[in-house]
Amino acid sequence: MMRQTLLIIALTAAVAIEATALAADTELNLYSARHYQTDEALYSNFTKQTGIKINRIEAKEDELLERIKNEGAMSPADVFITVDAARLAKADALGLFAPLKSKVIDERIPAHLRSNDWVAFSTRARLIVYDKSAIKPESVQNYEDLADPKLRNQVCMRSGAHPYNLSLLASMIAHHGEQKAESWAKGVVANFARAPKGGDTDQIRAVAAGECGVTVSNSYYLARLMRSSKPEDQKVVAAIGVVWPNQSSTGTHINISGGGILKTAPNKEAAKKFLDYLASDEAQLYFADGNNEWPAVPTVKTDNPALNALGSFKADTLPIVELARNATLAQKIYDRVGWK
Ligand code: FE
Repeated sequence: MMRQTLLIIALTAAVAIEATALAADTELNLYSARHYQTDEALYSNFTKQTGIKINRIEAKEDELLERIKNEGAMSPADVFITVDAARLAKADALGLFAPLKSKVIDERIPAHLRSNDWVAFSTRARLIVYDKSAIKPESVQNYEDLADPKLRNQVCMRSGAHPYNLSLLASMIAHHGEQKAESWAKGVVANFARAPKGGDTDQIRAVAAGECGVTVSNSYYLARLMRSSKPEDQKVVAAIGVVWPNQSSTGTHINISGGGILKTAPNKEAAKKFLDYLASDEAQLYFADGNNEWPAVPTVKTDNPALNALGSFKADTLPIVELARNATLAQKIYDRVGWK
């Protein structure tokens, strides 16, 4: 009798474990800082192809990171998707990611766009935007020019604490060393037209309004304004000029949006399938186009009217991990030179 009861308990437990294992393959918990209209198709196609249901938790990057940290070993999160190398570096430094082992990703995503733990699925560029009525394009061809005393009281910037500017300075540290990067930052601060405030689009609007002569912005904010049908946005676009910076030297600074599988992921198989899917031709188009970005897989070409209008350019091929590596030092430099 006793033996029979034990057998039944053992069998029940086995069935329960089996059920959990099966359930693990049918769902995926995605913590994402992206939320674009085209993402709906991106996710529903994955479910169609694999039968794996995606549960999405969408919030701001820092909130998601905080949440994963607090959930600890019990976190339901399988995949974390965010923007900017500096933010992925932060997740990495917290030890949140599992090592990424995927033949598909190794074959399809260029090596300079991934680390051992995370991978880029799209790229964006940091462009120079200037007031056509006040600035000659020849004087703002390089990021270095923004520190030139000739541009005194002409430069608008967002906060130095923001990942986009941290990554930009991180690239300069990698190319020119700490000292030169610091004197650049110092020179830019000396050229500020006003104290840093607002996001990239606010900087573009400030340039168009004549509040300042020049700024930098991520390409997709510009593309968004270019594709907007609002008259006030079209007025902004008409007033500004755009430069692909550093075409005769290091190339234009690029950053990424991407993600990785969490160390504590309960559905690791589904997570790997999802990342492989994001590297597929079909998903790459949705992923990049949803935010006016470029696909990370070089053979995939989007047909985005704004990006087409901006034309082609030489991109900096600095490994993205270098940006991540130098992000902390970049913040120290901004603090030292008073780029708040
Ligand atoms: Fe952004």
